[in-house]
Amino acid sequence: MKIICIGRNYTEHIREFDGGEPSREPIFFLKPDTALLRNNDPFYIPSFSREVHYETELVVKINRVGKCIAERFAYRYYEEVGLGIDFTARDLQREAMAAGLPWEPSKAFDYSAAISPNFVKLSDLGAGIDDLSFEMTLNGQLRQRGECARMIFSVDRIISAVSRFMTLRMGDLIFTGTPAGVGPVAHGDVVRATLMGRPMLEFEIR
Ligand code: MG
Repeated sequence: MKIICIGRNYTEHIREFDGGEPSREPIFFLKPDTALLRNNDPFYIPSFSREVHYETELVVKINRVGKCIAERFAYRYYEEVGLGIDFTARDLQREAMAAGLPWEPSKAFDYSAAISPNFVKLSDLGAGIDDLSFEMTLNGQLRQRGECARMIFSVDRIISAVSRFMTLRMGDLIFTGTPAGVGPVAHGDVVRATLMGRPMLEFEIR
């Protein structure tokens, strides 16, 4: 399986990130399967970064094989969603971007893709993909709130765009981009996240 991550998908996050313009097409990058952090296991801050940020994102699980998927048929390729944290070594990312180098060291490191233990069917949530909302708290304080209706590129648009370049397979995960409010984590922090009010993630930073 592969983990596909979308960047620059919420206007307010682009503003806080670099103040640049939204892109014309979805921007994506990959994390390897060794990046997965499951079962609410603790996240250990890696020694190579002094500034690891959380990015809370809706995660869509692909449930069939597809390539060059038309946007209007994209809904057929998923039915379950979860939440994830796209952990980012922001200091390394800034250095890489400034030097025009790839982002992988800052984004694809081990355990940088935390996912909720459970994924939920959209039918059980009683909402369409574009009507979902999620929240993340750090030590009980609200830090991020995402509404899919505010995404620059919808989930269906993302699936259509990415599948032009690479075949999607059952079990692939798409991190759909972070809303505003990203920030650093520190030893002892507790991350919690809810999807439509349902607890999905709860783990500790070590
Ligand atoms: Mg992200």
